[in-house]
Parts: sequence; structure tokens; C-alpha cells
Amino acid sequence: MDEELRCIGCGAVLQSDNEDAAGFLPQSALTKALNSDDQEVYCKRCFRLRHYNEIMPVELNNDDFLSLLNSLSTKKALVVNVVDVFDFNNSLISSLKRFVGNNDFILVGNKIDLFPLNSKESKIKDWMRQEANRMGLYPKDIFLISAAKKRNLTDLIKYLDRNSQDQDVYFVGTTNVGKSTLINAIIDEMGDVENLITTSRFPGTTLDQIKIPLDNGHFLVDTPGIMTQKQLASYLDKQDLDLIAPKKPLKPATYQLNSGQTLFLAGLGRIDYVAGEKTSFTVYVARDLYVHRTKTENADAFYEKHKGDLLTPPRGNENLPAMHKQTYHPEVKSDLLFGGIGFVTIPAGVVVNTYLPGGIGQGIRRALI
Ligand code: GDP
Repeated sequence: MDEELRCIGCGAVLQSDNEDAAGFLPQSALTKALNSDDQEVYCKRCFRLRHYNEIMPVELNNDDFLSLLNSLSTKKALVVNVVDVFDFNNSLISSLKRFVGNNDFILVGNKIDLFPLNSKESKIKDWMRQEANRMGLYPKDIFLISAAKKRNLTDLIKYLDRNSQDQDVYFVGTTNVGKSTLINAIIDEMGDVENLITTSRFPGTTLDQIKIPLDNGHFLVDTPGIMTQKQLASYLDKQDLDLIAPKKPLKPATYQLNSGQTLFLAGLGRIDYVAGEKTSFTVYVARDLYVHRTKTENADAFYEKHKGDLLTPPRGNENLPAMHKQTYHPEVKSDLLFGGIGFVTIPAGVVVNTYLPGGIGQGIRRALI
């Protein structure tokens, strides 16, 4: 078997020997993949998740990914949880506490280039720390970076270098947070790229880890991305993901709303303004994302009629769980979070209902801007 053929969803080496192990693909599909130029090959687990909305139990103890992560608690290591600042609550690994053991861990918030230009990094970090603490996680440090734009990357690399004098550095993260982009950017910054990749990638470990040697004799270790059912990214195909992912820093779009009105964020998000004076809702989403205002009393019928055409993405929504409603009544000016799509700032005192498929990525925070 070609050792280097990996699932593009989770990074596991594809194999057809053990159906319960990571990277399983039936022999026929594996043979086809090996003989094809198509690099977009998913293991059965990732394929099922994407196409049949079937969540494989990645959070169970006997799962290969989790046992890999669990093995961290027995090593001396610095653990780096890479998260997506646009989908923070869902990309933070809740079981981190269990597998970090006595090791230090840091949070690296990626995609900071997309935050509105006037956002304060200190406020974003405060929010991340509060959320992490709320989940019982106490990161030693928090970095905000853009892997794609290489923003704040040098600081992170210096930090990792300083803190890996007597231990390896393990990168963990759910899929789509930009972990691969970050690892590649780090390799790039470290120079001598070709040599690094040819000598060190896929060193044949059984744990699906990619090890990058550091000058100090230790390693940066990339672990497979963990898929979770809490990320919208797990349900959309690449084309839809491209449509919802902002390309540039988010710009506010303000909507004057009366109670009884509804905003649709394409076919993926919805806010009903339930109670309050006429006021403005400020929407921060990708510039091309279609936002539609309608009366709440017509909203259900409108959604049924127009999902998949006017309300798109998603283009087809056979995979998506049904919309899940959540009511908020914030006492301070707040951001309603639509994980993976963006956020909407609302004033204090109003009552709103928000909807996302399966409740994925729903949340609220004190307004950052
Ligand atoms: P992984 O699954 O965690 O390895 O994520 P990838 O590295 O494949 O990235 C997932 C998506 O996020 C891709 O569409 C990337 O282009 C995008 N991405 C990664 N890093 C950044 C970043 O710093 N800024 C922005 N705006 N997008 C990013």
C-alpha cells in the first residue's frame, strides 16, 4: 500500500485492513484511489460524515484519534490547540483538559485577518480566555494569528522555539481551522523547506503524525484534524464553504429592524427580532453572502419555498440538520455568533431567536466592537 495516501478530511493514512481503525476505505475504493490522479480521497468515516450526515464517534475513548490525543498526557509536551476565531466555541477541543494532562497548552486563534479592521486583539483574547475558562480550560498563552497572511507568525514561532527546549510541540485542532495552512506557513518560515519535507514528512509512525524537526532537537508534531458535529464545515461541501468563508476583513452592514421582522443569512442562519424598539442590527458576514429581510410571520414559509435557490448556500440541503432555535435576551450589547458564517451585533435589552442547522455554532458574547 502507498504509505503516503492520506484522507483529506482527517489526515489518517488510508487503509483497507481494519474497518474500525482510522483511515479505513474499502479495498475497491482504495485501489481506485491509488490508480487515480484525484487527490480528494476521504476515508469512510469522513466520507460518511460529509455525505450522509452520519457522525462517526470521534469523541469516544476507543477512537483512534482520541487515543492518539490521549497519549499526549503521558508525554512531556507543549500542546497547541489551533482554533478558528470565527468558529471559536466549536473549534475549541472540549476534551483538551483530559488529554493535556500536566502539560501546558496554548490557544492559537487563526484567521484573525478576517476580523473587522477596528477590532481590538486584546478584547478578542479576553473573550477567548473567558470562554476557555468556562469550559475548564486554562491556556498558558493565547496567540492571534493569520496563517494565510502570516500575521503574528514570527512571534508564535519564537515562542514555540523558547518553549520547546525540553519537549516536543503538538498541534491539535478540529478540521478546517487552518492547522495545515499554519504548519505549512511555519515550515516555510523555518526555511530549508524542501529538505524538511523530504526528510521528515510521514516518517512512518503508526499514529498519523507529521513531525517537523526543530533546530533544538525537538519536533513540531501535527496530529490529524478532528471532525466534530458542531462545525458547519462538517456539513457543507467545498463550494458552499467557499461561499460562506469571508475573503476579506468583515465590514458591518446595518439593518434597521422592527420587532416581528426576520433576517436570513442565506439558507444557513436566521434571526427573528422578537421584542424591542426599532433598532439596528449590525451584520458581519462574507460580503457576497445573501442577507434577506422578511416578516417573521412569513419566515417559515419563505424558508421552505426558497431554501436552496434564493436562500443559498447551501445549494442542496439534504445533509443539513433541521434549523434549531435558541432565544437570547442580552443585558449588554452583544454579538450573536453564527459559527463559520460571522456574527450579528444587537443592542442590550432586545429579545431575539436565532436559528442554525442543528444549532451548530450558535452562541453569544459581549460585543467586541
Ligand atoms: P485544517 O483542516 O485545519 O488543516 O485547515 P486548512 O489549512 O485546510 O484550512 C481550512 C480553510 O481555512 C481553507 O479554506 C483555508 O484557506 C482557510 N484558512 C486557513 N488559514 C487561514 C487564515 O489565516 N485566514 C483565512 N482568512 N483563511 C484561512
